Amino acid sequence: MREILKHGTLSVGFIGLAECLKALIGKHHGESKEAQNLGLEIIGYMRKRMDEASQQYHLNFTLLATPAEGLSGRFVRIDAKKFGVIEGVTDREYYTNSFHIPVYFPISAWDKIKLEAPYHALTNAGHITYVELDGDPLQNLDAFEQIIRCMKEEGIGYGSVNHPVDRDPKCGYTGIIGDECPCCGRREDDGNEAFERIRRITGYLVGSVENFNNAKRAEEADRVKHGIESEREAI
Ligand SMILES: [Zn+2]
Repeated sequence: MREILKHGTLSVGFIGLAECLKALIGKHHGESKEAQNLGLEIIGYMRKRMDEASQQYHLNFTLLATPAEGLSGRFVRIDAKKFGVIEGVTDREYYTNSFHIPVYFPISAWDKIKLEAPYHALTNAGHITYVELDGDPLQNLDAFEQIIRCMKEEGIGYGSVNHPVDRDPKCGYTGIIGDECPCCGRREDDGNEAFERIRRITGYLVGSVENFNNAKRAEEADRVKHGIESEREAI
């Protein structure tokens, strides 16, 4: 038994790098180069401590970029009680997932990928970077491919492109549905069966956000889409 345990990993996870940077210097890593450098220094230091512990104890200590579903709401409630409501830090219902740029912050897909990629190299227990797209990727496959290539070039270890997927349970149409089904023309507001709207929350694809905790529902509601109009240099 003792020998088997040595093959496991002992991971330390973190959330809220963005709020941490806001608290320290007033800006998160999507807002300033200085914050990005400080963020890399902090996470780099955490990784160094894991490596040192691995050497010292001959066990697999690793650093995990976690979404921490339950803790994202719990920690911010504890901190708000202790420190009060601080703008950009404790004024929302959730702490930002791992090293992510806050979901409410407007940023292009390209800049988001470039800013988050360096953290993938530091988080050897796992990580993910999301890009939120507005439309149907099938209508713009070139842009979709460019995003995947950009992720690969920048060193994203695990990337995900989120996009809305709607389905009409009556006629079976799958795609983007506005007020009216493009296939059969029916509307859901005239007493019909509702359209299914699939969204992704911390890795789960869900037809409705009802079953998620308040923190993650608040996060979903805050999300902005990431523009892909033109690729420009990262800030
Ligand atoms: Zn339909």
